[in-house]
Formats: sequence, structure tokens, C-alpha cells
Amino acid sequence: MLRPFVLHRPRTAEEACALLARLGEDAAPYAGGTELLLLMKLGLLRPRHLVDVKRVAGFDDIADGVRLSIGAGVTHRTVERSAAVQARCPLMASVARHVGNVRVRNVGTVGGNLAFADPHSDLATLFLALDASVELVSPRGRRELTLAEFVRGPWETARAADELLTSVRLTPWPASTAAAFVKFGVHERPTLGIAVALRLDGSGTGRARVVDARIAIGCVNPCPARAPGAEARLSGVALAELEDVAGEAAALAAASADTADDLYGSADYKREMVAVFVRRALRAAAARARGVAPVAGFPHTIVA
Ligand SMILES: Cc1cc2nc3c(=O)[nH]c(=O)nc-3n(C[C@H](O)[C@H](O)[C@H](O)COP(=O)(O)OP(=O)(O)OC[C@H]3O[C@@H](n4cnc5c(N)ncnc54)[C@H](O)[C@@H]3O)c2cc1C
Repeated sequence: MLRPFVLHRPRTAEEACALLARLGEDAAPYAGGTELLLLMKLGLLRPRHLVDVKRVAGFDDIADGVRLSIGAGVTHRTVERSAAVQARCPLMASVARHVGNVRVRNVGTVGGNLAFADPHSDLATLFLALDASVELVSPRGRRELTLAEFVRGPWETARAADELLTSVRLTPWPASTAAAFVKFGVHERPTLGIAVALRLDGSGTGRARVVDARIAIGCVNPCPARAPGAEARLSGVALAELEDVAGEAAALAAASADTADDLYGSADYKREMVAVFVRRALRAAAARARGVAPVAGFPHTIVA
């Protein structure tokens, strides 16, 4: 049951931040409400004021410049359908297409997803792999943080109470990048999400080599984490040999995972799953680099 609250509908970020600063602990930013209203109904959060950010100017913009900038108020559905996102970062559009269900995608926002910092966020895992950063605004001005700086732990971010997330920004990797996001789940939220991006040199499919690799592991760690040992192992590997090295890199990624027992499974199970799914994600990325559609036939698995 929802307790009564006052809904504020500011038109500018400055107005919204001033409200948050003035109302302090009694207020919370409110976007799609898919997380916030659930917690309020359960009585786990009891803000007496909600500051609706959906009408804040610029929050629903997607800006396509040197960097691609996605406003905090942009819904997953808009990301999925955006021509700019599809052209500059197709993996982002594809990941958005598989967030939750269509009801969540229609109202849930990119900013709400990241600010909530659920360890099961697909977006945080994807953006970590893509070296994205977030912009925050407060009465003290604007600042930009990398995803790793912003997400500090389960449901914990570097955001101050009077700060709003305005956008997430990234420089799309070159077209020669091979990328994949593989997620597995039997519950409402994913059990595991793996993002892989491999920057290949331009010497053609047959002779291409990995010049830079990113692997981010989501869901099983306290917050999404890169796998630097596995990334280093992939550097310099020829695309034609990726299949041989994928198992070794996956084992390194699994060894780096900080897993714990919970309702999604035991720590050991999750570590094993990381090994299996990093291998699958690398295979999917390698298949794409060769112009082949990746295999997506595993139960409860999505290859984005
Ligand atoms: C059934 C279900 C399935 C889901 N499945 C997935 C999934 O597969 N993958 C995945 O990644 N996610 C999943 N989610 C999470 C979903 O993506 C988020 O619920 C959604 O994006 C949150 O956005 P929102 O606008 O509804 O946030 P809200 O609920 O409005 O807000 C969430 C939190 O962020 C704060 N907040 C909101 N906007 C801002 C802002 N601009 N600045 C600062 N703080 C802000 C709020 O105060 C609140 O604490 C699922 C959720 C549900 C309910």
C-alpha cells in the first residue's frame, strides 16, 4: 500500500536539484517508478516527496555527437528504437530490447536503472565494458564519473542526495569492434550478464587480431566488474585463434569473480556459470566478426 506523498514536477535540472537539497532525506527522484514504487509499496522506502524527473528539459534527449549521450530519462524502449543508437552502438539497442518485459521497457529509464545500482543491471555491465561515464548535476555544478566510480556496491552509488543523474555518455568503439552481451536467467531479473567488446585491427577478417578487449561481468559480483586478467590474455590474439583461447580467458574471468551464495545460486555455481558464459560471449563476438549470426539456442539464454 502506497503512503501519501507530494509529487513535484520541475521543468529544469536546477529546479529539481534545489528541491532535493531543500527536502533532504524526505525526497527521492522519481522517473519510471518501476523500482521506486515497488519499494514504497513494500514500505522499504517512505519518501514524503517525489521529484519527478521525466519533464526535466534535456533528460529525454539522445545526442549523437563525437560521443553518444543518452539522457537519464530515456526509456529502454526509446534506446531500443533509436536510429542513432542502432547506428552508433548497436549492442546498446540490442541489450535494451531484452531488459525485463515490455511494460518495464516502456516506462523504465536508463537513469533509474543506473541510479538504482541493482547488481543485476544489464546496463551497468554493458556501460562498464564500453568505458561509459555518467554526468551528475547538483546545486554545486556538474561532474562526470566513470561507471566504475559511480557504482560503488550493491544498491550504492557515488550520487549525493541532492544530485541527479543527467545522462550516460560513451565514445562508440570503431565499426571493426566485435561485441556481444550474453545473459542467462530463470527469475524476473537476470542471474548473469556478460558483456564482451573486442577491438580488432583492420587487416581483414582472416588476419584480424584483438588489439583491445573488454569483458564485464554482471549480476554475480557485488557490482559489475571487469575481468582484467582475461582481457590481457585476449590482447594480440588472432581472430582465427580466438576459439582456442576463449576457454583460458573464460577461466581467468571466472577466477576473478567475487561471487557469493544467494537466492540466485551458490558462489561456486555462479563462478562456473561465468566460465561458461564468458566463453559463449567470446564465441558470439567472434562469430559476428566473421559475419555469422551467433548461436542463441541455449535455454534461458539471450544473446544480444
Ligand atoms: C520485472 C522487472 C524486470 C527487470 N528486468 C531487468 C533486466 O532484465 N535488466 C535490467 O538491466 N534491469 C531490469 N529491471 C530493472 C529496470 O531496468 C529498472 O527497474 C528501470 O530501468 C528503473 O528505471 P525507472 O525509471 O523505473 O526508475 P525509478 O524506479 O523511477 O527509480 C529507481 C531509483 O533511481 C532513482 N532515480 C531515478 N532517476 C534518477 C535520476 N535521473 N537521477 C538520480 N536518481 C534517479 C530513484 O530515486 C530510485 O532510487 C527489471 C525491473 C523489473 C521491475
